[in-house]
Amino acid sequence: MQVRFWGTRGSLPKPGPMTLRYGGNTSCVEVLSDDGTLVVLDCGSGIHDLGLALVRARDGPMHGHLLVGHAHWDHIQGLPFFAPLFSDADRWDLYAPGGRIQQLEASLGNLMSYDHHPITLQSLEAQVGLHDLTEGEFTIGGIRVITQFLHHPALTLGYRLEADGAVLVYASDHEPHTLHPLAAGPGEPPIHHEDQRHVRFLAGADLVIHDSQYTMDDFPAKAGWGHTPMERAVDYASAAGARRLALLHHDPEHDDDTVDAIVHRAAERAANAPHKPDVFAAAEGQSVELPRRPLSDRGVGPRPSALLPSEPPQAATVLVVEDDPDMLELIRLHLRQEKLRVVCATDGEAALRVAREERPSLMLLDFNLPFRDGFEVCRILRADGEERLRDLPIVILTGSRLQEEAVTEAFLAGATDFMMKPIKPPLLRSLVRGWLMRQRPG
Ligand SMILES: [Zn+2]
Ligand SMILES: [Zn+2]
Repeated sequence: MQVRFWGTRGSLPKPGPMTLRYGGNTSCVEVLSDDGTLVVLDCGSGIHDLGLALVRARDGPMHGHLLVGHAHWDHIQGLPFFAPLFSDADRWDLYAPGGRIQQLEASLGNLMSYDHHPITLQSLEAQVGLHDLTEGEFTIGGIRVITQFLHHPALTLGYRLEADGAVLVYASDHEPHTLHPLAAGPGEPPIHHEDQRHVRFLAGADLVIHDSQYTMDDFPAKAGWGHTPMERAVDYASAAGARRLALLHHDPEHDDDTVDAIVHRAAERAANAPHKPDVFAAAEGQSVELPRRPLSDRGVGPRPSALLPSEPPQAATVLVVEDDPDMLELIRLHLRQEKLRVVCATDGEAALRVAREERPSLMLLDFNLPFRDGFEVCRILRADGEERLRDLPIVILTGSRLQEEAVTEAFLAGATDFMMKPIKPPLLRSLVRGWLMRQRPG
């Protein structure tokens, strides 16, 4: 399997003398399997040069597959400038996370509407197939593609590609569910069960390409922006037993010398970890060949299909547990606009009863409740005899920024995620949609 970086920058293209070595174009990675299957990961501005190179090298009709992690601008802005889409001999299949509310065609169609670009999605000359994805797996040629949601303000998938006796994981953009404990040693496994699941997604990879836009020093000012500090990218790769780690999504404020310094520190951290991945910073134009090794002991188990049917699934049920009537009404209003079925409880005892009766797909749980507090509700559900209650995603609603001990205690009690009050409606909708999209294949 051949991997080539065409765009490595995060957030904003940053060409110029300060980014000559690592590159200024936004995310785009080309993957070519031994049987000639062509996969492109993300279509940031780097895809422009890839498109020109593909057209120059063509010796017949082209069939490519474009896997989009999410629809943030820096990951799709190059698509309207991708030359192979303008040849009627070619076919391109586009894949992106989607669902009943946000369909891939809607987001790409919006980007390529006359308001933003002179050529619309419908007028491309290549044959274009659009595919909505959720968590699961599917195959492209000889490549097994496994998808798993990342933790980012927009619905985002990571991609794990298994082919030719090699494993490649592309995980951008992603923020740890928790950085706690802050003093974790190099390579120490995370405590949050979703972070542990993320590490399993990277397991045994020959190459992990991972968001590492920040460092732990930058992070406090950037928490919630959806990116990983370099230290945690190293820890995840180490805990996963990955062979190599490519740092990606370089911050537009980081010039080449700063990236050098980050790589140096990352290599030091890796050298002190129990398992020592080889760390480098992805550079535009760089190629990496992944060696052939046995897959059997490091592949992930079978998963359901990641390809979503075109008809929308039935309305999911969300349980909202909140003792403040105004807050309860506000949340209920916003979730109903999303065509969700909302059931409510106003104390901990009732929360447990309704969770058992109504089979919700998600619980939003205020932490300060009468009778039983949120910690206790979490602990009881996680110890329940029914698997669906043990695995029910529980998003804690909290009025203030929690202290580290409280965060750790909440995650140990089984909380899945947090949302701070006052509730911001777009964030609420995006977070709820993200958790409802997740299947729990293990
Ligand atoms: Zn990004
Ligand atoms: Zn993003």
